[in-house]
Amino acid sequence: MNDQPNELTKAAIQSKILHGKRALVMGIANGNSIAFGCARVFRQLGADLAVTYLNEKARPHVEPLAKELGASIFAPCDVAQSGQLEAVFRQIRETWGSLDIALHSIAFAPKEDLQGRLVDSSDEGFKVAMDISCHSFVRMARLAEPLMPDGGTLLAMSYHGANKVVPNYNLMGPVKAALESAVRYLAYELGDKHIRVHAVSPGPLKTRAASGLKDFDVLLTEAIERAPIGELVDIDDVGLTAAYLTTPFARRLTGTTTYVDGGLSIMA
Ligand code: NAD
Repeated sequence: MNDQPNELTKAAIQSKILHGKRALVMGIANGNSIAFGCARVFRQLGADLAVTYLNEKARPHVEPLAKELGASIFAPCDVAQSGQLEAVFRQIRETWGSLDIALHSIAFAPKEDLQGRLVDSSDEGFKVAMDISCHSFVRMARLAEPLMPDGGTLLAMSYHGANKVVPNYNLMGPVKAALESAVRYLAYELGDKHIRVHAVSPGPLKTRAASGLKDFDVLLTEAIERAPIGELVDIDDVGLTAAYLTTPFARRLTGTTTYVDGGLSIMA
């Protein structure tokens, strides 16, 4: 990248356009997580943060990052455990009273199902993947709605494998397709409340979740070779686009899937 975009990025950051906004960020596992890139940009733009961690095992990895981000709320949340998501929103209501942004950057599928053919996926594996990676976003939207009386933005992380067959993406393809469809239906249902709903679709990034995919390194190499921009995206790139979607610059956008992939998805 040349210097000009960096100067522009600095100027954008200095605008503090999210000052006074309250953002819930779910899906930070470590410093490589896409959710961390998003949280860091939201914070740099002035937002107050609520950060969740999966469980006690994850906590020591996430807590220092939440501190670095100056998060006002730090709470456990395994979306597969009934009541935990509700408890996070209860805490947000008690602490803040309202919410402006909720980001879902969570995906999971059992390893055998993730690494096998879709045609062989188990009932249970498919259900778990769909529940954690898709339906939990719907539940998040339901809980966010009453806390967004003046509108807000809901964001979910998708991937190009939702729309095109990406070898080795397997059952996550249909799961992400359902997520992108859920984004459109939620945008329709919540539009009159000025709650905008978006999917962000990053190009491949080396994270813990991605390391569960077979031959992921091939995807990274291909992305560099084939993307018009000729570089991999990083978590701050995703954060900047996610932040843009929450601002008035995107105030008439909803229901979209926005690619942050250096143009990779336009290639045949
Ligand atoms: P990551 O491993 O850093 O993040 C995945 C997160 O999901 C972790 O924080 C994990 O704790 C959380 N999670 C899993 N099960 C959960 C549960 N039951 N309850 C609550 N949280 C749970 O990896 P990442 O790549 O940053 O993934 C974030 C999102 O981005 C995912 O939706 C992923 O599909 C999507 N995505 C990733 C890439 C990529 O190449 N890395 C590309 C496009 C989209």
